[in-house]
Amino acid sequence: DAQGRRLKIESTNPAPEKIIRRIVPELDKAFAPTKELVPFVEAVHDRLVVEIARGCTQGCRFCQAGIIYRPYRERSVSKVLELIREGLKATGYEECSLLSLSAGDYSQIEELIVRIITEHWSNRIALSLPSLRVSSLTPLVLEAIKRVRKTGFTIAPEAGSERLRKMMNKAISDSEILGTTEKVLKAGWRNLKFYFMIGLQRETEEDINGLIKLTRALSALGKRIQPGAQLSLSINGFIPKPHTPFQWEKQLGMMELKAIQEKLRREIPRNFKIRLEDPRISFLEGIFSRGGRELNSVIETAYQKGAKFDSWSEHFRFEAYLRAFEEQGINPEQYLKEKPEDMVFAWEHLDPQVSKEFLLKERDRSREGLLTKDCRITGCLENCGVCDQRQIQPRLSEQIEKKTESELIKSLEQLSPQPDFYFRYLIHYKRIGDMRFLGLLENNRMFIRAVRRASLRMRFSQGFHPLPKISFADGPPVGVESDAEYLELELIEHLPTEKLKSQLQKVLPVGIEIVEVKELNQRARSINQQISLIEYLAVLPENLKAKANQEQLAKFLTSEQFLIKQKRDKKERIIDLKQKIKYIEITNEHSIKFGIINSEGPTAKPQEVISEIFEIKEPEIYQVRFKRIFMRFMEARSISYPMDSLRKSGLTQKKMRGE
Ligand code: SF4
Repeated sequence: DAQGRRLKIESTNPAPEKIIRRIVPELDKAFAPTKELVPFVEAVHDRLVVEIARGCTQGCRFCQAGIIYRPYRERSVSKVLELIREGLKATGYEECSLLSLSAGDYSQIEELIVRIITEHWSNRIALSLPSLRVSSLTPLVLEAIKRVRKTGFTIAPEAGSERLRKMMNKAISDSEILGTTEKVLKAGWRNLKFYFMIGLQRETEEDINGLIKLTRALSALGKRIQPGAQLSLSINGFIPKPHTPFQWEKQLGMMELKAIQEKLRREIPRNFKIRLEDPRISFLEGIFSRGGRELNSVIETAYQKGAKFDSWSEHFRFEAYLRAFEEQGINPEQYLKEKPEDMVFAWEHLDPQVSKEFLLKERDRSREGLLTKDCRITGCLENCGVCDQRQIQPRLSEQIEKKTESELIKSLEQLSPQPDFYFRYLIHYKRIGDMRFLGLLENNRMFIRAVRRASLRMRFSQGFHPLPKISFADGPPVGVESDAEYLELELIEHLPTEKLKSQLQKVLPVGIEIVEVKELNQRARSINQQISLIEYLAVLPENLKAKANQEQLAKFLTSEQFLIKQKRDKKERIIDLKQKIKYIEITNEHSIKFGIINSEGPTAKPQEVISEIFEIKEPEIYQVRFKRIFMRFMEARSISYPMDSLRKSGLTQKKMRGE
């Protein structure tokens, strides 16, 4: 209308009037991927992710996911276990994350966790539960998670005062937050993160003081129980989200948010690492959260004015957005205001099947400070509209044999330690083709995951963060192929070398080829202590073959010293290449073969050797293809396995097979 309000949304044929959300009634019957892509580089969420439940009916009134994924549906324990089994087998991941909006609310979370840990104990699979509500953290959950690896812990009180938390429908008291924090700290966690939100409508000075008071109490707890623990606070501005009971609420402006942030910065104890969201980001997020298609032109204009990669603070161009709003004649402030209840929002045609009446009722209850209980516990009292109570309804996992908490803890305590015998193997492999682009860590991670996929029973280090006993000989620089890569692997089962080789080869990517597997004497020195020389071959392209000339080589061979400058970690150093090269020869017009001595102290990269001796500088040196072709060891590696002495020590064939 004349005031720029949206009066209705009309569909354009053939689009339907409403886009109605599809709901999967039973997760067990829905497709769930188990053969995930396993990236070589370390990705975000670099672990197996298995969804254990969808939806959440805790009813937090600011939370969009809590509305648009209703009703609450659990995947059964047996199905979750099956997916994890298949997923770990297919990927070789060392960690599994139980995904849901609130993992601790899964009806049989304790039994599930214990079953996962016991089933995968021999592989020391770490378990992470990314979203735990304060009240769902039982001693067993803590015990189970720390069994394999203590990842960081996140607690989300959301608001500083109990009054405000009630308005949000988050029924947790300060004492529950402190109690949980105490439990987590006592269980040994040293890295805790707390999430808060500021700027809610009807937030008062008292609520902000409540937040400060709570952080002081948390800080004192940290100092008392775990001095030196890393406590972090993440404080974001409240953004009214579409489809939530708070979608009509006002959002605080930048100046008001900034004033609260300054107070918090002054008064929150110093031992907290505080991350306050930039109020300009909250401002934009609020606008785009409640804006409609009229903002398309703003985004495009801002982009043309240089707005790109906004999440990286150094690239954030706020002025580009302000100028874009101005140019498009849009007043951004209007999006932050409280909205009338008859407002036609830009998302009115998207129907998550939760009724508007329910949202408005929840808004009223929030103002009255009334809590709405979780319908999966109380049954359908408030009727949000999403269930038909026949096919679509809240669903819990089938009940499995229930054990008491102490029985479950006992089964964790009974997990067997590693046997004291083990078998050591030396694996010689090639890394060719595209695999030459793997970095050192990527190569190692890829191999460890392959060993897991091959179901080999690895030996692990002891302690809180068990790591597989596998060590790699220093790999070649990125971009260099290799016929001579080595690793040492310790297993707690005995396998014939040919069997180990074929089992492992089957699960390795193209470009990684096992040449040979040998058994190693347990007393043999580690591989990195043994390498004395590494031989490389440099193959020059047609346009550079003239560079491989004997005069250049003779200059090097006849010189007393051949000093080169190296850059390492932003520092420079000088080394004498004559001391590092054992031999070098031009084998044909395209190829140069050379051996680099592997000794203590600085060494030379193959690219440096060719670049310096034959004066092939950047960028031409990148056209030269390098291959590591041979590795010489200081002493003949003992490859005989001392079977006799082990037999004498009472080790049976069965034990050796790990049975
Ligand atoms: S319709 Fe009732 S049971 Fe279903 S999600 Fe809504 S409140 Fe819960």
